[in-house]
Amino acid sequence: MVDPGDGPDDSGVLIVTGGSRGIGAACARIGAQAGYKVLVNYARNRDAALAVVADIERSGATAVAVKADVSRLSEVERLFAETDARLGRVTALINNAGIGGEVRPIEEHTEATLNQLFLTNVFSCIHCSSAAIRRMSPRYGGSGGVIVNISSAAARLGGIQGMVAYAASKGAVDSFTVGLAKEVGKEGIRVVGIRPGVTATDILQPIGGADLIRQVSPTIPLGRVGQADEIARAAIWLLSPAASYIHGTTIDVSGGR
Ligand code: NAP
Repeated sequence: MVDPGDGPDDSGVLIVTGGSRGIGAACARIGAQAGYKVLVNYARNRDAALAVVADIERSGATAVAVKADVSRLSEVERLFAETDARLGRVTALINNAGIGGEVRPIEEHTEATLNQLFLTNVFSCIHCSSAAIRRMSPRYGGSGGVIVNISSAAARLGGIQGMVAYAASKGAVDSFTVGLAKEVGKEGIRVVGIRPGVTATDILQPIGGADLIRQVSPTIPLGRVGQADEIARAAIWLLSPAASYIHGTTIDVSGGR
């Protein structure tokens, strides 16, 4: 794997959805090191997003934070319009924003929480990819690009107890990656996915945080959970020309889980 830090000075414009914390924040920082101008999207946590932007600017690179709930089409359209205006035409998209949803037996979910889960984890990928294609595809005057969808090992494993619906939402993301690759590959747009395993971020707090990490670590072939940077380095590598023939597939970055 190449060192993302060896990338060219101007790799293009990268949008990271959910770039304020966790895996997305790591993608934003490492993407900036690789030469991208980075749009750091967030939903609520402005301070965290501004801290990521400040880190990137300190390193001499360019980043902008934009609040937008990517589960909603109108906000996605505004997010991409702001990116056009402030950074230029997007060339790389990491569909990272996601939530774990309610942790409970499937028959105890409400329609409202299931809708929010699928809107945030699945519809966001569809809305953002559509907006990106309108800028990347030669049909719209673009010259190609790369889309990385952040899935989960849960898509393969069915999720931990109480997270079946989350697993199903990530299964949908994997199907979307395969199908979208067929739809836009000949237009110079690569579409790939990553299935992270358990990764130490805030998303683990509602399901046990440090306790969960202690319990699950011995069950992982590498004997530990992942760090956000380990997922992000794979994502930025997938964006790079070094991954030019990887398309329509989702790779596991899960310590062997
Ligand atoms: P995290 O630390 O909880 O961060 C989630 C990020 O998503 C935050 O930046 C949050 O913004 C943003 N976000 C949530 N809903 C949003 C919305 N509607 N619109 C825009 N942004 C939104 O989570 P993470 O662990 O880094 O997870 C990132 C991705 O990796 C998710 O898709 C998750 O399913 C996947 N994943 C994580 C793990 C893991 O163990 N950590 C494993 C497998 C897959 P705010 O800061 O504004 O709230």
